[in-house]
Amino acid sequence: MDCIFCKIVKNEIPNYTVYENDAILAFLDIHPMAKGHTVVVPKKHFELVFEMNDSDLCDLMIGVKRAMERIQKTLQPDGFNIGWNSGKAGGQAVAHLHMHIVPRRYGDGGGSMHSIVRNQGDVDVVDVARLFT
Ligand code: AMP
Ligand code: ZN
Repeated sequence: MDCIFCKIVKNEIPNYTVYENDAILAFLDIHPMAKGHTVVVPKKHFELVFEMNDSDLCDLMIGVKRAMERIQKTLQPDGFNIGWNSGKAGGQAVAHLHMHIVPRRYGDGGGSMHSIVRNQGDVDVVDVARLFT
């Protein structure tokens, strides 16, 4: 499979490792949005979270925490944004699921999760809530 993150996991493409264990690899994003911007990838190839079992997902979240601890200790950011782009509509460019860890600093000019999109569609939240009952 021609997957750039699988190649990085297999050491066929170099990376700047932040943290690694048996299940995940965390490395610096090559086009950082902030100092220390890191991506955390499961070593097994999954495109979407729906393909992962709970144990794999747990391993990924623990890996995110470990990587955050390393970044906190090394760079001392003031905060973080954590998340992933899921699916093409969500902005996923690399089809190997990966969590972004974006260290944040006061005054860095960035926004919060709420700045990703502002388009609630033509329905009220109450109508959407009904669909879940
Ligand atoms: P996305 O799929 O949109 O969540 O983002 C993919 C991310 O992977 C981007 O932020 C890229 O800068 C990053 N990226 C792509 N290739 C590499 C690479 N070889 N090493 C590190 N980061 C990469
Ligand atoms: Zn892959």
